[in-house]
Amino acid sequence: MNVDVAVVGGGAAGVDAAVAVREQKPGSTVALITPDQNLSYRPWLVYLPADAVSAADMTIPLSEIADRHGFELVHGKVTQVDPDTSQITAGPESAVIEYKQLILAPGAPADRARIAGAEKHAIFPCDADDARELIDRLDELPDATVLFVLTGERIGPGLEYAGWVTRAARAKGRGRVRITVVEDGDALDRQFGARAAQRILQGAATLGIHHIRHADIERIADGELVLTDRTVDADLIAVTSPLRGPDLGLPSHLLDSRGMLTVDATLAVPAFRNIFAAGDFSDVQGVGADLPKTWIMARLQAETAARNVVAALRGEPTVELDRRKVSRMAAISMPDVGGQTLFVRNRKPVIGGSWPLRLRYRMDAKYLTRYRTTPGATRPLM
Ligand SMILES: Cc1cc2nc3c(=O)[nH]c(=O)nc-3n(C[C@H](O)[C@H](O)[C@H](O)COP(=O)(O)OP(=O)(O)OC[C@H]3O[C@@H](n4cnc5c(N)ncnc54)[C@H](O)[C@@H]3O)c2cc1C
Repeated sequence: MNVDVAVVGGGAAGVDAAVAVREQKPGSTVALITPDQNLSYRPWLVYLPADAVSAADMTIPLSEIADRHGFELVHGKVTQVDPDTSQITAGPESAVIEYKQLILAPGAPADRARIAGAEKHAIFPCDADDARELIDRLDELPDATVLFVLTGERIGPGLEYAGWVTRAARAKGRGRVRITVVEDGDALDRQFGARAAQRILQGAATLGIHHIRHADIERIADGELVLTDRTVDADLIAVTSPLRGPDLGLPSHLLDSRGMLTVDATLAVPAFRNIFAAGDFSDVQGVGADLPKTWIMARLQAETAARNVVAALRGEPTVELDRRKVSRMAAISMPDVGGQTLFVRNRKPVIGGSWPLRLRYRMDAKYLTRYRTTPGATRPLM
């Protein structure tokens, strides 16, 4: 297969990028390669343990989006990207796809090896299979002690899971489920700032969630989290989440130490300017800070990557990420801890209560209705 633009990954960044290229250059041939049948709205994974949304509410068939926007859907996992020949190998049949321009948006799964013992003794519910395992394990353990370890590049979902698992336990009359969030080092302070972190934890405490702050984690063993100063017993330990880039068979010198693709502010790989990265897989240099691994950031990057591949196809100059927009969005957090939130900007608490939650749910609905063809939930309900 020969295409103008190949897009790897059917998530937040990949879908937006494929759609944007087709909208901006309707005559172009675009192939989106992914093992998934559905676009999954990952921020809603945290609501599944509480049945606050259904699995169907957070998924949209990719074939519908592809048909509507005129790109080709290739089902399969990319196993090799060869930048020298501009070829991708994908799927069980090892199909070869030749591209003029390439956007890599394969996301970033949990880095299971970053904490000693975690691979064997913990689950990582930011990955879809482990999110399902979390629900099954909670069903098996009516009196469980559950730890959510907040560590690595993405800590928000751990807080959110803790909140919604606690609400679900209450709703199901499982008063003896004990939920604790464990902050690895200063993970909460770094993301939210000290005052906002304290307020978020106070809110969580009103739901009955315990916390351990500034933990120095040594390892995870069978049924225990070993800190340097004590050991905490648990029936279930969930880690959210250190991330690493998936293996696409790219030359290792193009990747950073976490396996993410190093790109400049135009999102291009400096040595191969027809390859762009967007979303969790990108390690963007020259924008002043590490960009958060969020849905919003993935979409902003997809917009720029799509614009730049279209510019490249037309022989026009590429543009850099809009730094003002990026830093504005990077500065905002609104974790939904069991239906309570705090709007945090520039690591300072701004406002709690229902307004930020309404804003968050409005953003969810806006995104979902962009791609859905059938009605579904637009906010979590319990
Ligand atoms: C539980 C949870 C809660 C979250 N909550 C929020 C939130 O509240 N707000 C927010 O902004 N962000 C949130 N995020 C983060 C957000 O979901 C991610 O930042 C976003 O999904 C990243 O988009 P992406 O396109 O880079 O990757 P993804 O959306 O993960 O998509 C990656 C795609 O690439 C595919 N892929 C992987 N490997 C290959 C391969 N080898 N070949 C082909 N395809 C491949 C995958 O199957 C998938 O289709 C949350 C994430 C999780 C997990």
